Amino acid sequence: MSEEFPRYRFKELDAADALAGLRDRFVVGDEDLIYLDGNSLGRLPAATPDHLARLVREGWGGQLVQGWPSWIEWARRIGDRLAAHALGARPGEVVVSDSTSVNLYKLAAAALDAAGGRRTVLVDAEDFPTDRYILQGLAEARGLTLRMLPTDLDEGLDLATLRAALDEDVALVVLSAVSYRCGALLDMAAVNDAVRQVGAHVLWDLSHAAGSVPVELTATGADLAVGCTYKYLNGGPGAPAFLYVRRELQERLRQPIWGWFGQRDQFRMGPAYDPVPDLDRFQVGTPPILGMAALDPALDVLAEAGIDRVRDKGRRLGEAIVTLADAWLTPYGFSLASPRDPDRRGGHVSLHHPEALRISRSLAAEGRVVGDYRAPDRLRLGPAPLYTRFVDVWDAMDRLRDIVARRSYERLSGDPSRVT
Ligand SMILES: *Cc1c(COP(=O)(O)O)cnc(C)c1O
Repeated sequence: MSEEFPRYRFKELDAADALAGLRDRFVVGDEDLIYLDGNSLGRLPAATPDHLARLVREGWGGQLVQGWPSWIEWARRIGDRLAAHALGARPGEVVVSDSTSVNLYKLAAAALDAAGGRRTVLVDAEDFPTDRYILQGLAEARGLTLRMLPTDLDEGLDLATLRAALDEDVALVVLSAVSYRCGALLDMAAVNDAVRQVGAHVLWDLSHAAGSVPVELTATGADLAVGCTYKYLNGGPGAPAFLYVRRELQERLRQPIWGWFGQRDQFRMGPAYDPVPDLDRFQVGTPPILGMAALDPALDVLAEAGIDRVRDKGRRLGEAIVTLADAWLTPYGFSLASPRDPDRRGGHVSLHHPEALRISRSLAAEGRVVGDYRAPDRLRLGPAPLYTRFVDVWDAMDRLRDIVARRSYERLSGDPSRVT
């Protein structure tokens, strides 16, 4: 069976893979479970438990408050590491802070405050919900117009749609570099250029891009960005997010949450808010040191791999999913729900099937393959090049084919659950 794509060929790809050895740098508790959800929550790096245990014991336990002179630099120190290894930004442009949702609010509000009389905000109608909700709230509070750009669910935003919506009333454009649902990868340089021509700013959400594709914030002329660290960056559940503000904009923008970590001479405890004239003004309160610390061992692995090699392997893993889906799953009613061109796709691939919810449950329970379901009818598969093998893709697709061939998902419930 399956002579056209024999399993041993995928083993050969692993044998030739320059990143193959890095899988051992992650905890893989159950070798039979295939994890294709690294775009939702990355695996635990093997060095992280001891690193955190030591910080808890020696830092918190031993140094107590005397740890702060060092810890207080970590948001910027780790931000610089993210800038260097994942984001293509300069030192002093990225800081670890709050959650992606909160950072989006902070930077969107800062950009809107600096936008003069412009009254329109543009967002991808299919963007991640928190991005749309936060902009709805800002637009409502300020009496602005939020325009939802119509977007193809499988192909992502068409640049022509964006261009047609741009005019001198646009203050801000919020877009994801990689779409959370279909994985469409936007041309960030082209978007930045088009939006700059009408005098507006782009606020990028890099949640599904960071640690998966080389982002190149400086080279593409990006002004503002936010993103998660618990997805491809492997920072752990609820790890703090990052934000980026182009150096030249930092002093001109003011964010709306006036906390003491943004204050000039913070420990003088002065009477009135007077923000630092650099990136620190985008911080708010005491940073979560324990959560942030998990990023160091995770970034060690990414730095060793190099984001270009991660991208190269990620593209080939994605191509393997598409090839096997075309060959094995089309007869069972699946179709590709992501851009077919690998240059227009980030790290994950979505497949459309009317029974995607039950199939994804059956795939996890019976097939022991963890992907996820995304509304309305997509099965999302997110291989992570640092620890996913080519043979994992083969096995996952083989198990998926088996489940749909036997229709074993029909025994499962299609009821909604709190988390998908
Ligand atoms: C995962 C994700 C988020 C999550 O935001 P949180 O504040 O961490 O819950 C936001 N935006 C996008 C595009 C995402 O993919």
